[in-house]
Amino acid sequence: MREKIVAANWKMNKDLTEGLQLVSDLVESLKGKKIACEVIMAPPFIHLSGAAERLKETDIVLAAQNIAKEENGAFTGEVSAQMIASTGAKCVIIGHSERRAYYGENGAVLHEKLLRAISEGLRPIFCVGEQLNEREAGKHFDVVSNQLTEAFNAIGADKIAQMIIAYEPVWAIGTGKTASPEIAEEMHAHIRSFLKERYGESVAQKMPILYGGSCNGSNAVSLFSQPNIDGGLIGGASLAVEKFMPIIEAWDQVHK
Ligand code: PEP
Repeated sequence: MREKIVAANWKMNKDLTEGLQLVSDLVESLKGKKIACEVIMAPPFIHLSGAAERLKETDIVLAAQNIAKEENGAFTGEVSAQMIASTGAKCVIIGHSERRAYYGENGAVLHEKLLRAISEGLRPIFCVGEQLNEREAGKHFDVVSNQLTEAFNAIGADKIAQMIIAYEPVWAIGTGKTASPEIAEEMHAHIRSFLKERYGESVAQKMPILYGGSCNGSNAVSLFSQPNIDGGLIGGASLAVEKFMPIIEAWDQVHK
């Protein structure tokens, strides 16, 4: 059976006090509960070491939202994979549509970031997804295949097998317009068959593919019930524990 995952992407939200409060709230809400999925939390960099301390002795996995493509040195404002790993973070989001759109991160840059993460033992959560106009033009499958092809480039199947993929249609992120379970499932199945073709059946079957885009406590069960949807990458609804917990608990109602 594949891993089931609910991952929080806080984006650029929460100052130091608010962030540590949210970590504590989540730890308290999960205390003593048997949950049916893994929980990953990606706060801004400033929270990583404090969160790592608070998450000790919990099963919550810490992630960063970005990494530098360079190893170290004179890159003002950047944070290296090694620095992130030293905080105790285990995963890193790479290729989020906001990074692609606002910071010009293209396939070549994302390929370098993937290599950097892998070499430092950080598990990439690699995001793909089409714009609305690309879907309307019927190009959505090609767009996602190209994003995977460019960023994965010559990375071997053994490394690809360690990743998590998140399908996040850009038109659904932060808009309140969730992809229907059928639309999301169709793309997840496409991604899985892409993986099968390039990297073989076992990589394809093992890869967790998360859905992201206005996922919330009301739509999580129907999304997670789809055969190829293995959880969610959650933005807005991860910023308050009363909104995030129902998404984690959605897995209790999914039997597959
Ligand atoms: C995201 O940005 O990863 C995301 C899925 O955002 P939201 O849940 O707010 O749509």
